[in-house]
Amino acid sequence: MSNLAQMPIHKPAWTVSGHDESGHVVPIDFCIADNSSAAKRTVAMSAMSTENVETSSTQADFEQVTSVVSSEFRVEEALMENGVPTYHLAQPQETKQPFLRVLKKLELMNLIALLRRTDGRVVLRVVPRPSVKPSNILINWALLFATMATTFVTGYFLSPNVINPYVGGAAFTAAMLAVLGTHEMGHKITANKKGIDATLPYFIPGPPPLGTFGAVIMQKSLPPNRDALFDIGADGPIAGFIIATIVSIIGLTLTIPSPQVPANEIGVPVMWSILERFLNSFNLIPKTPPNGLLLLHPVAFAGWVGMLVTTLNLLPAAMLDGGHVARSVLGEKLSLRLVLAILSITYLTVEGFIPMAFLVLLMLFFRHPGPLDDVSSLSTSRKLVALGLVGIFILCAVPLQPIF
Ligand SMILES: [Zn+2]
Repeated sequence: MSNLAQMPIHKPAWTVSGHDESGHVVPIDFCIADNSSAAKRTVAMSAMSTENVETSSTQADFEQVTSVVSSEFRVEEALMENGVPTYHLAQPQETKQPFLRVLKKLELMNLIALLRRTDGRVVLRVVPRPSVKPSNILINWALLFATMATTFVTGYFLSPNVINPYVGGAAFTAAMLAVLGTHEMGHKITANKKGIDATLPYFIPGPPPLGTFGAVIMQKSLPPNRDALFDIGADGPIAGFIIATIVSIIGLTLTIPSPQVPANEIGVPVMWSILERFLNSFNLIPKTPPNGLLLLHPVAFAGWVGMLVTTLNLLPAAMLDGGHVARSVLGEKLSLRLVLAILSITYLTVEGFIPMAFLVLLMLFFRHPGPLDDVSSLSTSRKLVALGLVGIFILCAVPLQPIF
């Protein structure tokens, strides 16, 4: 076991150029609107101008890194490949926990590791930790206030005549921010727990009838393994689903019986059909008057948007939350993930979300970078949670025809 306390913290002699797999920014979200970037990794030789000095420095670095790697793994072969310390690991051996320990040790040297299966061999490469640019938190606050303004205006105009539009605007704003904010903070808190650099949420203001295009947080470093990738993708929709359900329950009890008036009808998520039955059994929803209808309270509409956001984000494609989950469950099996992506685009098209279908199609041209350790398998409990996410997707989906 090497003595890490004595290891110098320094800039290593090898470099990684281009878009490093661990250095690019990945959107964790796509609440209605989003963009994405993904990266192709290229490993390049270091500058060789001061060859002799570099060679001895590289050799010393290589030996230190080798000592760290071999303290946790059985190494079959250690070599410098294109200037990058590369280790072929003996098989079979446990990789998940040793990799996390290696990451921790390398952190002291400002390095990270990537674990991949290449040509049937398990290969660990060590590269410099990419620097993370600090975020300007003022942008988060500015966008939050702008979104508060647009949701307030939207809520004002959504308010039926019988309620004070200022109260309706404020209630809609609070409910929308609760739904979107909880979803995003689900991602953010998990990112913090897993040691992944991620920004605070960026809320995106929008015009009525929604008042927002959702929110997004940007992930600035890669998750350590598939478990962490799964958690960061899943925790947002799970948190968002819970709060959207609570907001929907409050909103549905506030529906307003009205004589027949011109009104836009909206499709009802499966979960709403269940909630309606449940609330009706306790007489918590007003009865529809003869020849009349029930007008949605703005809070109920926020719950409806929350359900929509949850279902759209869970589509197993590209950089959507469901895309991260699919990547962690299926690994690099591109053909299967492509089938899921095509099904997602078909779903969006059939449901009428044409611009989003195009965006998802565009995002497919960017490769998902995966986690740092792409070899260790996903835990069994998370595979079960993945089934739960399919259940949440179905509950939040709006069928073209009511099914109850
Ligand atoms: Zn999300």
